[in-house]
Amino acid sequence: GFRCGIVGLPNVGKSTLFNALTETAAAQAANYPFCTIEPNVGNVAVPDPRLDKLSEIAGSQKKIETQLAFVDIAGLVRGASKGEGLGNQFLGNIREVDAVVHVLRCFENDDIQHVDNHVDPIADAETVETELMLADLESLEKRVPNLVKKAQQGDKEAKIQAAVLGKALDLLREGKPARLTEVADHEEARAFEQAQLLTGKPVLYVCNVNEEDAANGNAYSAKVFEKAKAEGAEAVVVSAAIEAEIATMPPEERGEFLEELGLEETGLARVIRAGYKLLNLLTFFTVGPKEARAWTVEAGSKAPQAAGEIHTDFERGFIRAETIAFDDYIACGGEAGARDAGKLRQEGKEYVVHDGDVMLFKFNV
Ligand code: GDP
Repeated sequence: GFRCGIVGLPNVGKSTLFNALTETAAAQAANYPFCTIEPNVGNVAVPDPRLDKLSEIAGSQKKIETQLAFVDIAGLVRGASKGEGLGNQFLGNIREVDAVVHVLRCFENDDIQHVDNHVDPIADAETVETELMLADLESLEKRVPNLVKKAQQGDKEAKIQAAVLGKALDLLREGKPARLTEVADHEEARAFEQAQLLTGKPVLYVCNVNEEDAANGNAYSAKVFEKAKAEGAEAVVVSAAIEAEIATMPPEERGEFLEELGLEETGLARVIRAGYKLLNLLTFFTVGPKEARAWTVEAGSKAPQAAGEIHTDFERGFIRAETIAFDDYIACGGEAGARDAGKLRQEGKEYVVHDGDVMLFKFNV
Protein backbone atom coordinates (compact mmCIF):
# COMPACT_ATOMS: atom_id res chain seq x y z
CA GLY A 1 0.00 0.00 0.00
CA PHE A 2 0.91 3.67 -0.20
CA ARG A 3 2.48 5.39 2.78
CA CYS A 4 2.62 9.01 3.90
CA GLY A 5 5.23 9.90 6.52
CA ILE A 6 4.34 12.56 9.06
CA VAL A 7 7.39 14.71 9.82
CA GLY A 8 8.12 18.02 11.53
CA LEU A 9 10.08 19.57 14.37
CA PRO A 10 9.29 18.49 17.95
CA ASN A 11 6.15 19.97 19.54
CA VAL A 12 4.41 21.03 16.37
CA GLY A 13 1.48 18.62 16.83
CA LYS A 14 2.54 15.51 14.88
CA SER A 15 1.48 13.01 17.50
CA THR A 16 -1.78 14.82 18.13
CA LEU A 17 -2.55 14.67 14.43
CA PHE A 18 -1.45 11.06 14.10
CA ASN A 19 -3.54 10.00 17.07
CA ALA A 20 -6.55 11.73 15.63
CA LEU A 21 -5.87 10.05 12.31
CA THR A 22 -5.78 6.58 13.70
CA GLU A 23 -8.10 7.21 16.66
CA THR A 24 -5.68 5.29 18.76
CA ALA A 25 -3.65 6.32 21.74
CA ALA A 26 -0.68 4.39 20.37
CA ALA A 27 1.50 7.43 19.89
CA GLN A 28 1.12 9.45 23.03
CA ALA A 29 1.23 13.20 22.67
CA ALA A 30 3.38 14.90 25.25
CA ASN A 31 5.18 18.19 25.64
CA TYR A 32 8.49 16.45 25.16
CA PRO A 33 10.78 16.45 22.09
CA PHE A 34 11.69 12.76 21.94
CA CYS A 35 8.24 11.42 22.63
CA THR A 36 7.67 9.46 19.45
CA ILE A 37 10.69 7.21 19.01
CA GLU A 38 9.39 4.24 17.05
CA PRO A 39 7.57 4.92 13.83
CA ASN A 40 3.93 4.13 14.24
CA VAL A 41 1.86 3.16 11.27
CA GLY A 42 -1.85 3.82 11.06
CA ASN A 43 -4.09 2.66 8.24
CA VAL A 44 -6.72 5.27 7.61
CA ALA A 45 -9.94 4.84 5.65
CA VAL A 46 -10.23 7.27 2.74
CA PRO A 47 -13.62 8.99 3.01
CA ASP A 48 -15.53 8.71 -0.27
CA PRO A 49 -19.26 9.54 -0.56
CA ARG A 50 -19.42 7.65 -3.87
CA LEU A 51 -19.01 4.38 -1.99
CA ASP A 52 -22.12 5.16 0.08
CA LYS A 53 -24.17 5.75 -3.07
CA LEU A 54 -22.94 2.57 -4.77
CA SER A 55 -23.63 0.36 -1.78
CA GLU A 56 -27.08 1.90 -1.37
CA ILE A 57 -28.04 1.15 -4.98
CA ALA A 58 -26.63 -2.38 -4.89
CA GLY A 59 -28.04 -3.06 -1.42
CA SER A 60 -24.57 -4.22 -0.32
CA GLN A 61 -24.37 -5.70 3.16
CA LYS A 62 -20.91 -4.27 3.75
CA LYS A 63 -18.97 -1.19 2.75
CA ILE A 64 -15.19 -1.26 2.67
CA GLU A 65 -13.25 1.95 2.13
CA THR A 66 -9.82 2.01 0.60
CA GLN A 67 -6.98 2.84 2.96
CA LEU A 68 -3.95 5.03 3.09
CA ALA A 69 -1.13 4.42 5.58
CA PHE A 70 0.26 7.20 7.74
CA VAL A 71 3.56 6.77 9.51
CA ASP A 72 4.39 8.88 12.53
CA ILE A 73 8.11 9.49 12.15
CA ALA A 74 10.26 10.25 15.19
CA GLY A 75 11.08 13.90 15.88
CA LEU A 76 13.77 15.54 13.83
CA VAL A 77 16.60 17.47 15.40
CA ARG A 78 19.09 19.82 13.80
CA GLY A 79 22.12 17.75 12.81
CA ALA A 80 20.08 14.73 11.77
CA SER A 81 21.99 14.51 8.50
CA LYS A 82 25.15 14.06 10.59
CA GLY A 83 23.58 11.19 12.47
CA GLU A 84 22.98 13.16 15.65
CA GLY A 85 20.20 12.26 18.07
CA LEU A 86 17.73 10.03 16.34
CA GLY A 87 18.95 11.35 13.01
CA ASN A 88 19.79 8.21 11.09
CA GLN A 89 16.66 6.39 12.08
CA PHE A 90 14.60 9.41 11.16
CA LEU A 91 16.13 9.66 7.71
CA GLY A 92 15.77 5.92 7.12
CA ASN A 93 12.08 6.08 7.98
CA ILE A 94 11.50 8.90 5.52
CA ARG A 95 13.25 6.95 2.78
CA GLU A 96 10.58 4.26 3.06
CA VAL A 97 7.51 6.45 2.55
CA ASP A 98 5.95 7.56 -0.74
CA ALA A 99 5.08 11.10 0.32
CA VAL A 100 5.92 13.48 3.13
CA VAL A 101 3.29 15.16 5.30
CA HIS A 102 5.14 18.04 6.89
CA VAL A 103 3.41 19.41 9.99
CA LEU A 104 4.18 23.06 10.76
CA ARG A 105 3.35 24.85 13.97
CA CYS A 106 1.10 27.79 13.13
CA PHE A 107 -0.31 28.25 16.63
CA GLU A 108 0.89 30.30 19.58
CA ASN A 109 0.82 28.88 23.08
CA ASP A 110 3.28 29.96 25.78
CA ASP A 111 2.84 26.68 27.65
CA ILE A 112 4.13 24.61 24.78
CA GLN A 113 7.80 25.03 24.15
CA HIS A 114 8.97 25.71 20.63
CA VAL A 115 12.42 24.29 19.85
CA ASP A 116 13.63 27.69 18.64
CA ASN A 117 11.54 29.64 21.14
CA HIS A 118 9.30 31.39 18.67
CA VAL A 119 6.64 30.44 16.15
CA ASP A 120 7.91 30.68 12.57
CA PRO A 121 6.60 27.94 10.26
CA ILE A 122 8.68 29.05 7.27
CA ALA A 123 11.92 28.89 9.27
CA ASP A 124 10.80 25.52 10.71
CA ALA A 125 10.11 24.15 7.24
CA GLU A 126 13.56 25.29 6.12
CA THR A 127 15.22 23.68 9.14
CA VAL A 128 13.69 20.31 8.31
CA GLU A 129 14.26 20.62 4.58
CA THR A 130 17.90 21.65 5.10
CA GLU A 131 18.61 18.46 7.05
CA LEU A 132 16.99 16.41 4.32
CA MET A 133 18.85 18.24 1.56
CA LEU A 134 22.18 17.78 3.34
CA ALA A 135 21.56 14.04 3.64
CA ASP A 136 20.66 13.79 -0.07
CA LEU A 137 23.63 15.92 -1.04
CA GLU A 138 26.04 13.76 0.90
CA SER A 139 24.69 10.54 -0.56
CA LEU A 140 24.69 11.84 -4.15
CA GLU A 141 28.21 13.29 -3.87
CA LYS A 142 29.29 9.67 -3.41
CA ARG A 143 26.89 7.94 -5.79
CA VAL A 144 27.00 10.15 -8.88
CA PRO A 145 30.78 9.85 -9.62
CA ASN A 146 30.48 6.05 -9.35
CA LEU A 147 27.52 6.03 -11.72
CA VAL A 148 29.36 8.25 -14.21
CA LYS A 149 32.29 5.83 -14.18
CA LYS A 150 30.02 2.83 -14.77
CA ALA A 151 28.19 4.70 -17.53
CA GLN A 152 31.50 5.36 -19.29
CA GLN A 153 32.18 1.62 -19.16
CA GLY A 154 28.96 1.05 -21.09
CA ASP A 155 26.45 0.29 -18.30
CA LYS A 156 23.14 1.50 -19.75
CA GLU A 157 21.21 1.57 -16.48
CA ALA A 158 24.02 3.54 -14.81
CA LYS A 159 23.88 6.03 -17.68
CA ILE A 160 20.21 6.76 -16.98
CA GLN A 161 20.84 7.03 -13.24
CA ALA A 162 23.88 9.24 -13.70
CA ALA A 163 21.90 11.59 -15.95
CA VAL A 164 18.92 12.06 -13.67
CA LEU A 165 20.79 11.99 -10.35
CA GLY A 166 23.37 14.40 -11.77
CA LYS A 167 20.54 16.89 -12.30
CA ALA A 168 19.32 16.30 -8.76
CA LEU A 169 22.85 16.86 -7.43
CA ASP A 170 23.10 20.19 -9.26
CA LEU A 171 19.85 21.34 -7.64
CA LEU A 172 20.96 20.24 -4.18
CA ARG A 173 24.23 22.14 -4.60
CA GLU A 174 22.14 25.24 -5.27
CA GLY A 175 20.21 24.57 -2.05
CA LYS A 176 17.09 23.31 -3.82
CA PRO A 177 15.18 20.09 -3.11
CA ALA A 178 15.59 17.15 -5.48
CA ARG A 179 11.86 17.06 -6.20
CA LEU A 180 12.39 19.96 -8.62
CA THR A 181 14.43 17.66 -10.89
CA GLU A 182 13.09 17.62 -14.44
CA VAL A 183 13.00 14.04 -15.67
CA ALA A 184 13.48 13.60 -19.41
CA ASP A 185 11.41 10.44 -19.86
CA HIS A 186 9.83 7.39 -18.29
CA GLU A 187 13.14 5.69 -17.62
CA GLU A 188 14.59 8.67 -15.81
CA ALA A 189 11.41 8.97 -13.76
CA ARG A 190 11.78 5.34 -12.68
CA ALA A 191 15.49 5.76 -11.84
CA PHE A 192 14.66 8.89 -9.84
CA GLU A 193 11.98 7.08 -7.86
CA GLN A 194 14.28 4.12 -7.18
CA ALA A 195 16.94 6.46 -5.80
CA GLN A 196 14.55 7.21 -2.88
CA LEU A 197 15.89 10.68 -2.27
CA LEU A 198 14.53 12.31 0.87
CA THR A 199 13.77 15.59 -0.88
CA GLY A 200 12.56 13.80 -3.99
CA LYS A 201 9.19 12.90 -2.50
CA PRO A 202 6.05 14.98 -2.91
CA VAL A 203 5.24 17.19 0.11
CA LEU A 204 2.02 18.21 1.82
CA TYR A 205 2.31 21.00 4.37
CA VAL A 206 -0.14 20.73 7.25
CA CYS A 207 -0.58 24.07 9.01
CA ASN A 208 -1.51 23.25 12.58
CA VAL A 209 -3.55 26.18 13.93
CA ASN A 210 -5.55 26.98 17.05
CA GLU A 211 -9.26 26.29 17.24
CA GLU A 212 -10.33 29.85 16.33
CA ASP A 213 -8.28 29.72 13.10
CA ALA A 214 -9.46 26.27 11.99
CA ALA A 215 -11.94 27.61 9.43
CA ASN A 216 -9.90 30.36 7.79
CA GLY A 217 -6.29 29.88 8.81
CA ASN A 218 -4.11 32.77 10.02
CA ALA A 219 -1.13 34.90 8.99
CA TYR A 220 1.27 31.99 9.61
CA SER A 221 -0.68 29.54 7.48
CA ALA A 222 -1.05 32.15 4.71
CA LYS A 223 2.74 32.26 4.46
CA VAL A 224 2.92 28.49 4.24
CA PHE A 225 0.35 28.48 1.44
CA GLU A 226 2.50 30.99 -0.47
CA LYS A 227 5.54 28.78 -0.01
CA ALA A 228 3.64 25.69 -1.12
CA LYS A 229 2.38 27.44 -4.23
CA ALA A 230 5.89 28.55 -5.19
CA GLU A 231 7.16 24.96 -4.79
CA GLY A 232 4.30 23.15 -6.47
CA ALA A 233 3.49 21.49 -3.13
CA GLU A 234 0.10 21.10 -1.41
CA ALA A 235 -1.02 22.70 1.86
CA VAL A 236 -4.00 22.35 4.21
CA VAL A 237 -5.09 24.06 7.43
CA VAL A 238 -5.88 21.78 10.34
CA SER A 239 -6.30 22.20 14.06
CA ALA A 240 -4.81 19.00 15.43
CA ALA A 241 -6.29 19.74 18.86
CA ILE A 242 -9.81 19.91 17.40
CA GLU A 243 -9.25 16.82 15.30
CA ALA A 244 -8.19 14.95 18.42
CA GLU A 245 -11.43 16.06 20.10
CA ILE A 246 -13.60 15.09 17.13
CA ALA A 247 -11.94 11.68 16.90
CA THR A 248 -13.27 10.79 20.36
CA MET A 249 -16.83 11.99 19.64
CA PRO A 250 -19.66 9.72 18.59
CA PRO A 251 -20.13 10.16 14.80
CA GLU A 252 -23.67 11.58 15.18
CA GLU A 253 -22.38 14.53 17.21
CA ARG A 254 -19.57 15.46 14.86
CA GLY A 255 -21.67 17.28 12.27
CA GLU A 256 -23.03 19.85 14.70
CA PHE A 257 -19.63 20.42 16.28
CA LEU A 258 -18.04 21.06 12.87
CA GLU A 259 -20.84 23.45 11.96
CA GLU A 260 -20.28 25.48 15.13
CA LEU A 261 -16.64 25.88 14.11
CA GLY A 262 -17.61 26.90 10.57
CA LEU A 263 -16.17 23.71 9.06
CA GLU A 264 -17.75 21.61 6.32
CA GLU A 265 -15.73 18.52 7.05
CA THR A 266 -12.94 17.40 9.34
CA GLY A 267 -9.41 18.57 8.68
CA LEU A 268 -8.40 14.93 8.60
CA ALA A 269 -10.66 14.25 5.64
CA ARG A 270 -8.81 17.05 3.84
CA VAL A 271 -5.39 15.71 4.86
CA ILE A 272 -6.28 12.23 3.65
CA ARG A 273 -7.64 13.48 0.35
CA ALA A 274 -4.66 15.78 -0.18
CA GLY A 275 -2.34 12.83 0.52
CA TYR A 276 -4.23 10.80 -2.05
CA LYS A 277 -3.87 13.58 -4.63
CA LEU A 278 -0.21 14.04 -3.80
CA LEU A 279 0.48 10.38 -4.50
CA ASN A 280 -1.34 10.57 -7.83
CA LEU A 281 -3.77 7.83 -6.85
CA LEU A 282 -7.25 7.03 -8.05
CA THR A 283 -10.11 4.89 -6.83
CA PHE A 284 -12.04 2.14 -8.59
CA PHE A 285 -14.90 0.13 -7.11
CA THR A 286 -16.16 -3.43 -6.96
CA VAL A 287 -19.84 -3.60 -6.12
CA GLY A 288 -22.08 -6.55 -5.28
CA PRO A 289 -24.81 -7.60 -2.84
CA LYS A 290 -22.23 -8.79 -0.30
CA GLU A 291 -19.96 -5.78 -0.34
CA ALA A 292 -19.18 -2.53 -2.04
CA ARG A 293 -15.51 -1.81 -1.93
CA ALA A 294 -13.14 0.97 -2.94
CA TRP A 295 -9.63 0.15 -4.20
CA THR A 296 -6.57 2.25 -4.92
CA VAL A 297 -4.28 2.28 -7.95
CA GLU A 298 -1.79 4.77 -9.29
CA ALA A 299 -3.14 7.02 -12.02
CA GLY A 300 -2.25 5.54 -15.40
CA SER A 301 -2.62 1.92 -14.25
CA LYS A 302 -4.15 -0.56 -16.69
CA ALA A 303 -6.98 -3.00 -15.99
CA PRO A 304 -4.78 -6.04 -15.17
CA GLN A 305 -2.88 -4.02 -12.54
CA ALA A 306 -6.18 -2.99 -10.98
CA ALA A 307 -7.22 -6.64 -10.94
CA GLY A 308 -3.92 -7.44 -9.24
CA GLU A 309 -4.84 -5.14 -6.34
CA ILE A 310 -7.63 -7.59 -5.51
CA HIS A 311 -5.75 -10.81 -6.12
CA THR A 312 -2.54 -11.76 -7.94
CA ASP A 313 -4.49 -14.56 -9.72
CA PHE A 314 -6.82 -11.94 -11.15
CA GLU A 315 -3.86 -10.21 -12.74
CA ARG A 316 -2.14 -13.36 -13.99
CA GLY A 317 -5.30 -14.83 -15.51
CA PHE A 318 -6.83 -11.54 -16.60
CA ILE A 319 -9.25 -11.86 -19.56
CA ARG A 320 -11.29 -8.66 -19.46
CA ALA A 321 -12.96 -6.18 -17.16
CA GLU A 322 -16.67 -5.37 -17.32
CA THR A 323 -16.58 -1.66 -16.58
CA ILE A 324 -19.22 0.95 -15.77
CA ALA A 325 -18.35 4.61 -15.15
CA PHE A 326 -19.54 5.84 -11.74
CA ASP A 327 -21.95 8.42 -13.21
CA ASP A 328 -23.48 5.81 -15.53
CA TYR A 329 -23.90 3.36 -12.67
CA ILE A 330 -25.82 5.97 -10.68
CA ALA A 331 -27.85 7.27 -13.65
CA CYS A 332 -28.89 3.75 -14.69
CA GLY A 333 -29.77 2.70 -11.15
CA GLY A 334 -27.14 -0.03 -10.94
CA GLU A 335 -25.45 -2.79 -12.92
CA ALA A 336 -28.51 -4.30 -14.63
CA GLY A 337 -29.74 -0.90 -15.77
CA ALA A 338 -26.29 0.04 -17.04
CA ARG A 339 -26.07 -3.25 -18.98
CA ASP A 340 -29.49 -2.62 -20.62
CA ALA A 341 -28.50 0.91 -21.51
CA GLY A 342 -25.30 -0.28 -23.16
CA LYS A 343 -23.17 1.47 -20.54
CA LEU A 344 -21.36 -1.67 -19.42
CA ARG A 345 -18.12 -1.81 -21.42
CA GLN A 346 -15.94 -4.86 -22.07
CA GLU A 347 -12.41 -3.60 -21.52
CA GLY A 348 -9.18 -5.46 -22.27
CA LYS A 349 -5.56 -5.51 -21.10
CA GLU A 350 -4.69 -2.07 -22.42
CA TYR A 351 -7.57 -0.25 -20.75
CA VAL A 352 -6.38 2.61 -18.54
CA VAL A 353 -8.49 2.72 -15.37
CA HIS A 354 -10.50 5.91 -14.73
CA ASP A 355 -11.27 7.34 -11.31
CA GLY A 356 -14.68 6.04 -10.22
CA ASP A 357 -14.85 3.00 -12.53
CA VAL A 358 -17.02 0.16 -11.24
CA MET A 359 -15.24 -3.00 -12.36
CA LEU A 360 -15.89 -6.72 -12.53
CA PHE A 361 -12.91 -8.83 -13.58
CA LYS A 362 -13.13 -11.96 -15.73
CA PHE A 363 -10.13 -14.22 -15.37
CA ASN A 364 -8.73 -17.75 -15.92
CA VAL A 365 -7.49 -19.72 -12.97
P1 GDP B 1 4.92 16.47 18.31
O1 GDP B 1 6.14 16.55 19.17
O2 GDP B 1 5.10 17.21 17.03
O3 GDP B 1 4.41 15.07 18.12
O4 GDP B 1 3.78 17.33 19.07
P2 GDP B 1 2.55 16.85 19.97
O5 GDP B 1 1.45 16.32 19.12
O6 GDP B 1 3.05 15.98 21.06
O7 GDP B 1 2.06 18.26 20.50
C1 GDP B 1 2.85 19.04 21.36
C2 GDP B 1 1.96 19.82 22.27
O8 GDP B 1 1.19 20.78 21.51
C3 GDP B 1 0.94 18.97 23.00
O9 GDP B 1 0.83 19.49 24.32
C4 GDP B 1 -0.35 19.22 22.23
O10 GDP B 1 -1.49 19.08 23.05
C5 GDP B 1 -0.18 20.64 21.76
N1 GDP B 1 -0.91 20.93 20.53
C6 GDP B 1 -0.96 20.16 19.41
N2 GDP B 1 -1.74 20.74 18.48
C7 GDP B 1 -2.21 21.90 19.01
C8 GDP B 1 -3.06 22.94 18.53
O11 GDP B 1 -3.61 22.90 17.41
N3 GDP B 1 -3.28 23.99 19.38
C9 GDP B 1 -2.73 24.05 20.63
N4 GDP B 1 -2.97 25.09 21.40
N5 GDP B 1 -1.94 23.08 21.11
C10 GDP B 1 -1.67 22.01 20.32
